[in-house]
Amino acid sequence: MGIASIDPTTGETLKTFAALSKNQIEEKLARAAETFKTYRTTSFTRRSEMMNHAAEILERDKTALGRLMTLEMGKPLKAAVGEAEKCAWVCRYYAENAQKHLADLLVETNAKKSYVHFQPLGPVLAVMPWNFPFWQVFRFAAPALMAGNVGLLKHASNVPQCALAIEDIFRRAGFPEGAFQTLLIGSDAVQSILEDTRIVAATLTGSEPAGRSVAGIAGQQIKKTVLELGGSDPFIVMPSADLDNAVKTAVKARTINNGQSCIAAKRFLVADQIYEEFSRRFVEGMNSLRVGNPMDESTDIGPLATPQILNDLAVQVEMAVASGARVLTGGRRLDQPGNFYQPTVLDNIDPSTPVSCEEIFGPVAMLFRVKNIDEAIAIANATPFGLGSAAWTNEPAEQLKFIEGLEAGCVFINGMVASDPRLPFGGVKNSGYGRELAEFGIREFVNIKTVWIG
Ligand code: NAP
Repeated sequence: MGIASIDPTTGETLKTFAALSKNQIEEKLARAAETFKTYRTTSFTRRSEMMNHAAEILERDKTALGRLMTLEMGKPLKAAVGEAEKCAWVCRYYAENAQKHLADLLVETNAKKSYVHFQPLGPVLAVMPWNFPFWQVFRFAAPALMAGNVGLLKHASNVPQCALAIEDIFRRAGFPEGAFQTLLIGSDAVQSILEDTRIVAATLTGSEPAGRSVAGIAGQQIKKTVLELGGSDPFIVMPSADLDNAVKTAVKARTINNGQSCIAAKRFLVADQIYEEFSRRFVEGMNSLRVGNPMDESTDIGPLATPQILNDLAVQVEMAVASGARVLTGGRRLDQPGNFYQPTVLDNIDPSTPVSCEEIFGPVAMLFRVKNIDEAIAIANATPFGLGSAAWTNEPAEQLKFIEGLEAGCVFINGMVASDPRLPFGGVKNSGYGRELAEFGIREFVNIKTVWIG
């Protein structure tokens, strides 16, 4: 495909970009290393000023930035504008809290004084996906820059204009030129950059194979990595749940971002007693969604980001159906240009088929009937992933059992899984390791230095 903006609504190629040459990559690496020498000594006050300025730019330009996201990857415009606003939030959050999160921690020992001191590490490579083309980058960049690191972004090849716009925001906000740079490169160029001694660490948000590759190369180099990978999040509904709210949230949780979110609810595990009622109302909710041009205010679901994602989704549905799944609604692509797929609900899924626990990236929900809480937890955990999880119940004992028993980086009770700058975000199992956001995120790419004074 190369590096190109291709409108997923029409299939039209809007702009293509040449990948950086070896010399151009070298210039950017050298600039990052050089910038780090002085940038690391800037005060928190100065970094906060620049980060708050980035937030102002995001807020002021949110509509234009939103249109760019929608144009390149197809999310509904109102969600794209919301994404720009959320990026402003994370900038402001770290502008306000970074100094506190990285303040020395005094520890009583036999020393006259001992404490933990946090220092930046250096240039960090960020390999990022297209699905939240701004948010994924900002939730790395805001803490990294506030900690005194510098960043290099290898964005997904289908969102080059977003990648350049983000670089431009940091430049306009006043950050020195080498503090945040976009590298327009294909994934084949990642290895040599990771092996360069000037790159000290890497973060990757994306698929499992990409994570394995980047972590493998970084491991050989003994460089720290954070991995935010895929998910097959369960959404469990027990008999005591507020059904109105659960159904409404279930539809939203499955179809957010056209169904292409790592933390979208993908498997719906519903107690036997309420299964028929939930399934009827959930199907109604999915059918009521408007699929269409993502630039239209009234659109709920736009096209999938690429033809490949559309094909992969169609194959997953075919495989589920071949192994006995029932299609309660949808089940096909739309017969029109663009990468559109109908909102789809499947049930009667054979739990032994791979698709039952794979990540499904699109507006396709799988329903499972469960006898009791133990079965719900067992099916919820029967996946290699462990990113998010949601459980709906008003029984306090059940809530505790879910909190303890679900193998996931987060458990939301009576709510939809969502990231929030104030709370850590990340997964267990094949969903990755490390955390972003909150104080946990900003402490991933720092030297946690022990100081002992006798
Ligand atoms: P992807 O194909 O893995 O791509 C993600 C990034 O990795 C892109 O920049 C891609 O570059 C690069 N890449 C791909 N293969 C690579 C390799 N072998 N070595 C180095 N870089 C490589 O994933 P995607 O399809 O864009 O994104 C969807 C996936 O991301 C889903 O699995 C989703 O769940 C996951 N995700 C996780 C989170 C989270 O926070 N846990 C958040 C969002 C998305 P090219 O575009 O040039 O190939």
